[in-house]
Amino acid sequence: MKLICIGRNYTKHIEELENEKPEHPVVFMKPDSSILLKQHPFVIPEFSNDVHYEVEILVKIKKLGKYIDKKFAHTYYDEIGLGIDFTARDLQSDLKEKGLPWEKAKAFDGASVVGKWLPKSKFSTVDAIEFRLEKNGVVVQDGNTAHMLWKIDELISYVSQFFTLKIGDVIFTGTPAGVGPVAINDKLKGYIGNTEMFSINVK
Ligand code: ZN
Repeated sequence: MKLICIGRNYTKHIEELENEKPEHPVVFMKPDSSILLKQHPFVIPEFSNDVHYEVEILVKIKKLGKYIDKKFAHTYYDEIGLGIDFTARDLQSDLKEKGLPWEKAKAFDGASVVGKWLPKSKFSTVDAIEFRLEKNGVVVQDGNTAHMLWKIDELISYVSQFFTLKIGDVIFTGTPAGVGPVAINDKLKGYIGNTEMFSINVK
């Protein structure tokens, strides 16, 4: 399976990193080896001094598809999750400056937290899901899918023009504002509404 990630999907996050607002979704991928193993702590890699959390709504693909029309995109998933797209920001800034790919900064081992899954049917619409990340008990990011530049069904349609979506693939839909660094002994907890979706210790 693959992880397909969307960058710059919330205006306030684009502003905080002083990025340009993209004309199309920014898309990158991470391998399955980047998924943090269940019950394992996140270990800050030695090649970075500035690893950031990015909490994101996840969508799990349930059937094979290519060139998916936006109006049928909702039939390709019925589970919604929450995760973290850990990013070695110092390395990423360096790579971005040189116009090089971001993989080393985002696709390293453990860089992708995939929390638990909730049935889509639990939500009246996937376009108004509230979520948040707490660091050591303090809310550091809170978002709502209503504020996405490209909504979930548009993202599925868009990325499927380039990549065949397969059963079990996961889409990371982008992070809202509030990204920041992690330090050893931090505790990160993610919530959709009041449901805890993951709890991670940083080592
Ligand atoms: Zn991200």
